Amino acid sequence: MGEFKAFDNKIWLSSPTMHGEELEYMTQAYETNWMSTVGANINEVERLACEKIGCGYAVALSSGTAALHMAVKLAGVKPGEKVFCSDMTFDATVNPVVYEGGEPVFIDTEYDTWNMDPAALERAFEIYPGVRVVVLAHLYGTPCRMEEIRAVCDRHHAVIIEDAAESLGASYKGVQTGRLGDINAISFNGNKIITGSAGGMLLTDDGNAAEKVRKWSTQARESAPWYQHEELGYNYRMSNVIAGVVRGQFPHLEEHIDRKKAIYMRYQEGFRDLPVTMNPYDTENSEPNFWLSCMLIHREAMCRQVRSEREALYISEPGKSCPTQILETLEQYNAEGRPIWKPMHMQPIYRMNAFVTREGDGRAVTNAYIDGGVQGADGRPLDVGMDLFDRGLCLPSDNKMTEEQQDIIIEMVKSCFRK
Ligand SMILES: *Cc1c(COP(=O)(O)O)cnc(C)c1O
Repeated sequence: MGEFKAFDNKIWLSSPTMHGEELEYMTQAYETNWMSTVGANINEVERLACEKIGCGYAVALSSGTAALHMAVKLAGVKPGEKVFCSDMTFDATVNPVVYEGGEPVFIDTEYDTWNMDPAALERAFEIYPGVRVVVLAHLYGTPCRMEEIRAVCDRHHAVIIEDAAESLGASYKGVQTGRLGDINAISFNGNKIITGSAGGMLLTDDGNAAEKVRKWSTQARESAPWYQHEELGYNYRMSNVIAGVVRGQFPHLEEHIDRKKAIYMRYQEGFRDLPVTMNPYDTENSEPNFWLSCMLIHREAMCRQVRSEREALYISEPGKSCPTQILETLEQYNAEGRPIWKPMHMQPIYRMNAFVTREGDGRAVTNAYIDGGVQGADGRPLDVGMDLFDRGLCLPSDNKMTEEQQDIIIEMVKSCFRK
């Protein structure tokens, strides 16, 4: 059934790609019985991360989320304290703020990078002048407009926590993401550009901060002859087995980025004649890692699409399409796409939190999302994040997809605009 033949093996959004060295380092850990949270692999991945990213210290942890939690603790976020956060991101960016009792205030997205809008951030400081901490993510491996954001934060004496979970290997003005903030986090989750199957790291130039995180992440033991505890501890350290996988992956980072970039460029070329654009980046100042290739459908080429909290429907129209139609088509032929991250201010869990747009007033936005297209009085969409979520989707971006397979996916997407 259908115009195309389904792929025999699923084409994934982004899946792990192993090379062989991973198994050698895991085996070394096994054969020497270093199967715990200390060992040569851990030391070596921390060294490799510092070497690649240029930071002073790296602390290997069990996940990127754990690294972000430790970053929020280092920043000293207190219960009830407001923290400015990226709005269009994975919820792991902001949950750690809440672990510490902080209150995320979401900052709208800009069209140019799909990241935190520096103008909206400036407005947020006007509305909430006392805020001390900003958490930002580099979406899909595309760096933020960091210089502008840094200038705003410096003006208001705020600390930046950088969530570089998706952007390992990407750089902005020649500096690697992961050292653009004051306290930084990366991830080795299974779908990231390189993986340990799980894992993450906190990166910093502050040796004392790194020491604190080493201690907190290993149950906060004091140096004493017995288990002495003066602070709250966590079991967040990376395993030496996981570190073996990460160690084996690190030498392949650039090769993965090259492959991801080729995938992005091939989509861009393939969609030349469609009413769509790819996820944009600052071509002058930034070099993304192209972790996921995404597309955005022009507003006038959107067919009708309705999304409730859990379901989506659309009505197809010749010459038009929508993310739901494209995702369902890909799924029909055994290829995996994904909607754009649903903005945090639209999520039931965070719907009552404040949300600041370029021109908005910073009040909580409640129930504003109806029919995927709430329009402002002048006919423009209500906010950027909502608009991108409505019209955007992530395309299959797996390293191991062949050019022939990608060409078929391009044809599948094109077919959605015909029928
Ligand atoms: C994957 C991801 C994380 C979390 O990393 P884990 O290692 O899965 O805990 C955080 N933020 C963003 C933006 C991510 O994509």
